[in-house]
Amino acid sequence: MRITRSQLVEKPENRGRHIVILGAGASVAAFPQGDATGRKLPTMDGLIEMLGLETVLKRGGVKNTRRNFEDIYSELYEIDPGLPILREVEDIVYTYFDKLRLPVTPTLYDHLLISLRPKDMVATFNWDPFLFEAWNRISASAPVPQIVHLHGNVRLAYCPEHPTYGAHGMYCPKCDKKLVPSRLLYPVAMKNYVNDPFVKTEWEVLKKGLRQARTLTIFGYGAPTTDKEAVDMLNKAWDKANRLIERTEIIDTKGKELLREKWEPFIVKTYLDCPENFYKSRLAIYPRRTCEALLCQTSYGQWVETNPLPENVGFDELLSWVKSLVEAESMGKSMNQSSEDTIHNY
Ligand SMILES: [Zn+2]
Repeated sequence: MRITRSQLVEKPENRGRHIVILGAGASVAAFPQGDATGRKLPTMDGLIEMLGLETVLKRGGVKNTRRNFEDIYSELYEIDPGLPILREVEDIVYTYFDKLRLPVTPTLYDHLLISLRPKDMVATFNWDPFLFEAWNRISASAPVPQIVHLHGNVRLAYCPEHPTYGAHGMYCPKCDKKLVPSRLLYPVAMKNYVNDPFVKTEWEVLKKGLRQARTLTIFGYGAPTTDKEAVDMLNKAWDKANRLIERTEIIDTKGKELLREKWEPFIVKTYLDCPENFYKSRLAIYPRRTCEALLCQTSYGQWVETNPLPENVGFDELLSWVKSLVEAESMGKSMNQSSEDTIHNY
């Protein structure tokens, strides 16, 4: 029995959510040439050098600056959260990321967002503005998933009293106060950093999403050992022991055995895919139908024809390609109101 491309496109179903978690490696992979002006994206290991933070950190008493940036930040914070050097570092980092501009042509992040539906979710640890800006330009043309921010982001502001966020300059609809910029850096090595009012709400949304997930993709996230709290929370919400056929996909250039070892708590039975880049992932091969394709393959043993996302086309062609998928979704929605918006446990 085989499922053809048109059968896959024309029959969207409610088969659970696809949750994607992005780390700094995803932005590096998505913008290999840097931003619109060629400004490069740093990883946590290369950030100190790229942003020229050595001198400032040495002045603050840090002897070895050839380490992970978030580790060093946490160490300084533990000494005294009020250290002036921390404000200086925060300002340099904020200014660098704030200046980044999204290229005008479709980027991997536009492709990622268009490969998912509103029932799905993209959660990001990244400070850069690219996912936020890609969402702003693509969501007007196609229904895309919500974004959850697991750390702060340079484009985001929030209300400290209500679970609401938006762009800088916006006001809270509940209390009418101006939203305040989200904090960028957190002392990830310290316990309970997620009790910060902004990220706390976001983590709750992700945890709910993970409990309903059928497929999980981890893209460019190294799960640093210092950020134990984040990894523990992800682990708990994924709840591997109560899963049967769910699929974990890790987009990473590292070898499969290494990734299997690292992500063992997230792998159900042996179901692990490790594509080396986004365009080889299930997201780009079965866009907007990843959960349907997975169920056909695993539960019914069916062969599913691929429907690859067009990688090297402009916005017009990309949007025209996605049209048949979106039309089938809205038809399904009008026939069965609950199919797209309401997520059922299974
Ligand atoms: Zn408010």
